[in-house]
Amino acid sequence: MTTRQAGDGARRGTCGCGAPLLRQLVGRVAALSVVADARPLPLARALAAVEPNRLAWCLINGEHVEPRLRWINRGTHPATCPHAHVLDHRCNGPPRGRRP
Ligand SMILES: [Zn+2]
Ligand SMILES: [Zn+2]
Repeated sequence: MTTRQAGDGARRGTCGCGAPLLRQLVGRVAALSVVADARPLPLARALAAVEPNRLAWCLINGEHVEPRLRWINRGTHPATCPHAHVLDHRCNGPPRGRRP
C-alpha cells in the first residue's frame, strides 16, 4: 500500500472561457470527474449556490499538501471548516470579443 497515489490531488487548469479551474477525479468507486472554479467562496455562499447539477467542494489546501477536492457531506461537514470551498464551474462560454 502506498500512502500517496499519483494523480490523487486536484490539478490547476484554465477553462476555454478563461476561468481558473481545479480538476480532479473524486471518489473511489464511482469517481466523478470534477471541474470546479479555483476561486474559493465562503462556505455559506458555496452551499447556498448548490443545485442538483452544481455541487460544492471542500478544498483541502495546505502548505505541505497538494490541493485536493473533497465531497461535502452536509451531515458531517463542519460549518466552521477552515478549508476553502469551491463550486462546480459553470461555463459561460468564451469571453466576449473572442468569437471565432
Ligand atoms: Zn470544508
Ligand atoms: Zn468555462
